[in-house]
Amino acid sequence: MTELPLYRNLIDGSMYPADSGEVLASVDPSTGGAWALIPCSAAADAQRALDAARAAFPSWSALSAAERAGPLEEVAAVISRHATELAELETRGNGRLLSETTTRDLPVSAQIWRNAASEGATLAEGRHAELGSGTMALTRREPHGVVLGILAWNSPLLAFSAKAALALGAGNTVIVKPAEQASVSVLRLGELTREVLPPGVLNIVSGTGPQAGDPLVRSGDIGMVSLTGSVETARLVTAASADAPKPLALELGGKSPNVVFADADLDAAARGVSLQGIFTANAGQVCYAGSRILIQRPVYDEMLSRIGDIAAGIRLGDPRSGETTMGPIASRAQYDRVVSYLEVGLKEGAELVFGGRHGPDLVQGPCATGFWVEPTLFATRDPALRICQEEIFGPVAVVLPFDTEDEALALANDSSYGLAAGVWTRDMARARRMFHGLRTGMVWVNTYRNGVFPFEGRKNSGYGNDTLLSFTREKAALMEMG
Ligand code: NAD
Repeated sequence: MTELPLYRNLIDGSMYPADSGEVLASVDPSTGGAWALIPCSAAADAQRALDAARAAFPSWSALSAAERAGPLEEVAAVISRHATELAELETRGNGRLLSETTTRDLPVSAQIWRNAASEGATLAEGRHAELGSGTMALTRREPHGVVLGILAWNSPLLAFSAKAALALGAGNTVIVKPAEQASVSVLRLGELTREVLPPGVLNIVSGTGPQAGDPLVRSGDIGMVSLTGSVETARLVTAASADAPKPLALELGGKSPNVVFADADLDAAARGVSLQGIFTANAGQVCYAGSRILIQRPVYDEMLSRIGDIAAGIRLGDPRSGETTMGPIASRAQYDRVVSYLEVGLKEGAELVFGGRHGPDLVQGPCATGFWVEPTLFATRDPALRICQEEIFGPVAVVLPFDTEDEALALANDSSYGLAAGVWTRDMARARRMFHGLRTGMVWVNTYRNGVFPFEGRKNSGYGNDTLLSFTREKAALMEMG
């Protein structure tokens, strides 16, 4: 492993290996081969980052939003200048299509940094009230202090940008703990930001959750934790943060319903539920993947046949090739998990509509050793099945029929998750009723996953999100002015 490039932690404006010298290998999921090393950090590295972030806080938070805007805009420019390299690292790290990292992840990441710069002025908007003669109440927004951002592996640069840019824009200093499976793009971008950010305001410590993340979650010197991850991790983080209570934002998983009514534009709906909804949305490895497809009975067979035709045209393969439309599963562990759910679906007696194959036979050439699962659709009438209730996080969807709008709503809400939902109908009054009735943080109507707009989960999908405002707290003053 010694010939592999070693990426390093960003602490106080310098790049460091782990204090222990230990490393973790990054695996390219399209080949299964190790391609880079990252620090396997632990409590000593976390503490060093915390000391740096604390030391940088007084001067960074004392800047006006306008003064912070300059460096944040410069990070956006750095991202744009290095977009080709960063997109390639992102694709190598988790198998997202290069066409997508190039045209979406990198430009949107740069835009998030620009937004954080331009929206800073809104932080000056406090509330005030006159409470009787001579008494004035007013509020101001204050940063939390040091914000800890913990990332999942599926969209490292977008999640990094959402947490770091907005927390910095709100006057916090930041430590990011990227996911151990996909840290390289984040560590490299961190290295590049040294050109434009003062030392210590942004720190990045890679490693496993229990070793590198947990000591920070427990610390009384962390002002807020923003976690993107699974509900299991959220439970651990919630419990650990109780050592020194602090605000949490928990952006967790989902089992999002995509509901197709018989009056919908079936062409658009078939593309929306299959491509944007699940299969080509990072091979289903998206928190808001529309992994439960609900179809009204009169168009059920017609829709299944259309979805099957679309899925048959999906091309699995090297995520760097322009011809590929679906990449690999991002890690060996996630591949094993997805494959286990293919077995669960069959054992539970769901009908396999198409797909179900997995393994190296699916792709030829240098990528044959990667982690491949083909687009898969199960059908059932039993919403209690595990494949209808549990997040699979791969290119595997389940379809259920329904008759009435009430039944659709009940089925859609029959989930321990509540992240997002799609509704396909030409009847806007029905769309409005569904929007009101769905217990999710986002409802897409006649589209899916269209645009970047912050929203927050319901139920096991968590709460809170990454916005400038959520990286601040309100402080009130009551003044007797005579
Ligand atoms: P995960 O929960 O396994 O890991 C997420 C992060 O938490 C990693 O950085 C991990 O190292 C860290 N972690 C794990 N244990 C920890 C601990 N004890 N203390 C501190 N940190 C710890 O999730 P994952 O497998 O990386 O990502 C997939 C999950 O993320 C899915 O459930 C997906 O739906 C969810 N997700 C949600 C959103 C959203 O915005 N709602 C976006 C992307 C992914």
